[in-house]
Amino acid sequence: MVNYTEAPDGVSGHGYFATTLQKAVGLARKNSIWPLPFATSCCGIEFMATMGAHYDLARFGSERLSFSPRQSDLLMVMGTVAKKMGPVLKEVYMQMAEPRWVIAVGACASSGGIFDTYSVMQGIDRVIPVDVYVPGCPPRPEQIIDGIMKIQDLIGSESLRRRQSEEYKRLLNSYGID
Ligand code: SF4
Repeated sequence: MVNYTEAPDGVSGHGYFATTLQKAVGLARKNSIWPLPFATSCCGIEFMATMGAHYDLARFGSERLSFSPRQSDLLMVMGTVAKKMGPVLKEVYMQMAEPRWVIAVGACASSGGIFDTYSVMQGIDRVIPVDVYVPGCPPRPEQIIDGIMKIQDLIGSESLRRRQSEEYKRLLNSYGID
């Protein structure tokens, strides 16, 4: 539910409210995130708790989990990602439609965590761009919710032109994504 205090800056009067298209789109997007949970180990259990009745991520407009990349806009990577899984993770990311965002949940997804070994990827930002990192091993549901709220702030203030910008294309190109 959108709280009135979240309404973007604009001009209001009797029976009307006017704002910019960018702010209206940002408000709609940030309150209707469809997450794709990419859970490979224990941090995924914390995410299950985050979706449960007590923490209830649905309060943030994110109750609709999508297990189809094409119908989701927030990739949540939770758990240890082996190097062999890197191409799979990248493929999932590339199947998501723009605009898309990524959260690395927990130490393993963010940096490999305690697994500084030959087989574990030392952070998913080796293969895909990450917007928000949530620390912890595992992070508590409150921290995951905090990560979602940080993503909401990013989404709400993102320029509608960002995805067409040269800077964004350069970022994707640095990951070998056209
Ligand atoms: S960060 Fe900790 S809790 Fe999360 S997947 Fe890694 S070892 Fe498990």
